[in-house]
Amino acid sequence: MRPQEMDAWVVARPGPIRTNPLERVRLPVPEPGPDEVLVRVEACGVCRTDLHLAEGDLPPHRERTVPGHQVVGRVVAHGDAARGRDLAGSRVGVAWLRSTCGRCRYCRRGAENLCPGSTYTGWDADGGYAEYVTALADYVYPLPDEVPAVQLAPLLCAGIIGHRALLRCDLPPRGVLGIYGFGSSAHLTAQVAMWQGAKVHVMTRSAKARELAAELGAASAGGAADAPPEPLDAAILFAPAGELVPVALSALDRGGTLAVAGIHLSDVPPLNYERHLFQERTLRSVTANTRADGRAFLEIVTARSPRVATVAYPFAEAGRALADLAGDRVEGSAVLTPPWADGG
Ligand SMILES: [Zn+2]
Ligand SMILES: [Zn+2]
Repeated sequence: MRPQEMDAWVVARPGPIRTNPLERVRLPVPEPGPDEVLVRVEACGVCRTDLHLAEGDLPPHRERTVPGHQVVGRVVAHGDAARGRDLAGSRVGVAWLRSTCGRCRYCRRGAENLCPGSTYTGWDADGGYAEYVTALADYVYPLPDEVPAVQLAPLLCAGIIGHRALLRCDLPPRGVLGIYGFGSSAHLTAQVAMWQGAKVHVMTRSAKARELAAELGAASAGGAADAPPEPLDAAILFAPAGELVPVALSALDRGGTLAVAGIHLSDVPPLNYERHLFQERTLRSVTANTRADGRAFLEIVTARSPRVATVAYPFAEAGRALADLAGDRVEGSAVLTPPWADGG
């Protein structure tokens, strides 16, 4: 029933996107390990991290890895130890966090996102730019059957990481939130924040993204480095632009917190203590997520569907999807839709 080979994309030569770092290949369909499930991919979101991996901003952990960590698919096989999880035939999400050690002091205190032994989908193991992917049964998220795969895929990284950033920025109830950069992750996070009563100001260089922000209910939408119309209780920097760190810190009210959501950020210019940090302003990073973050976020968004702005790309055009992301030409979330998936 299952074919022996499948279509996939691998990062063949990490480098600038115009040099075509991805290569389309045929690979053997992977066998699930004892604790793993084999998932047939229905859709795979395209994340900025995929771009960082393709371009070599994040050094490869192994050669010729299949990228992609926002996978929606169906469990078609499982290893012996995963049998008890009763996942056969069900729809699941495979996300960035592939595994953690479960034993270190971070794992034991509920901070498995900081586990030094953690591994990541599409970096340490093959990801979802392929027809099949394996994942540990304990690390997949159950997903509803009735929502189109294209709508679910962006929730799995853009959504989950954005949600952790929202938790990390310590936004007070009904507070004022500034969002810098308004792509895939930001437009989902903004909606959750507004559902929770926040007033949201968006700062982004893209005119189209400003339009989307206004449509979604943002109180204001200005240019990337513009001052928001009022002091911010909290801010999240989604743009991978270190030069915006002092800009966002200056926009914080006394006691405000800036969370940097990205895994990669260009250098932060020197900060001035008085202008950027004094008055108990706080600067924080966001590192991956825990499974609890993922479950909490997916519970919120499957109970109350957010608007997910997606741009579908045929599987054959993975390189173009990454190039469009690099060139800021994607409004919302890019998603690969494979020819073998229903409705793809
Ligand atoms: Zn650990
Ligand atoms: Zn991601």
